[in-house]
Amino acid sequence: METLPTSNCERFAAKPLTRGGTPLPVWLTALDRGPLPPLEMTGCRRLVVVAPHPDDETLGLGATIAHLAASGVDVQVVSVSDGGAAHPGATSLQRTRMETTRRHELRRAAKVLEIPTPLSLGLPDGEFADHEDGLAEALTDVLAGAGPDTWCAATWRGDGHPDHEAVGRAAAAACARSDATLLEFPVWMWHWSNPADAVVPWARAHSMPVSGHAIVRKRLAAQCFRSQFEPCNGAPAPVLPGFVLPRLLAVGEVVFR
Ligand SMILES: [Zn+2]
Repeated sequence: METLPTSNCERFAAKPLTRGGTPLPVWLTALDRGPLPPLEMTGCRRLVVVAPHPDDETLGLGATIAHLAASGVDVQVVSVSDGGAAHPGATSLQRTRMETTRRHELRRAAKVLEIPTPLSLGLPDGEFADHEDGLAEALTDVLAGAGPDTWCAATWRGDGHPDHEAVGRAAAAACARSDATLLEFPVWMWHWSNPADAVVPWARAHSMPVSGHAIVRKRLAAQCFRSQFEPCNGAPAPVLPGFVLPRLLAVGEVVFR
């Protein structure tokens, strides 16, 4: 029996985004020396991608989404929150504005990835752990309604961000109830972890085989999230520093199955 993954939130908290995190060459050298086996996706007719915040689906799995959609797989993105807490200490008005902006950015990104408009669940950003049972129920309904041969991709249960880990746990529970196949994708692992890290389930890690066209769609879709990559609301720096996107684009897409 597989042991439950432990939380890595303390690991992430110890490496704030104001510092660079694990340098890209460290990842590229390791992935070059020990390439991950590509994931076999035949048997997947529908994919539900669960994103804690608008942009996680694109940053973590955007090329896979575009690739599968172009191959005839039904892809549905579920956006758990509208990402209102991007700026700590924001007023409720600023929060509402940020949510509106990010919902709009996500819709534009979905068009670029050539998938239907994402489903928004509207949970409060930053507080998923308090709503995990309800989230698992909502995801179970989505997966049960999607039909047979549905796979579900969610942020990894050990990703280090409390919301990302809560989404991974809720998706795992929903997959167990609905018989969907679970994939977990890392987003913040690339920042706080390293290739020799024993807390990462490397034995379950696979690379996602995607077309050049799909990688181009991902790059274009990522540019939709200007509220995250450009300074806004009078803040001196963007929510996500400039090194985050190039690192994610360069390491490619990885899932744990
Ligand atoms: Zn996120």
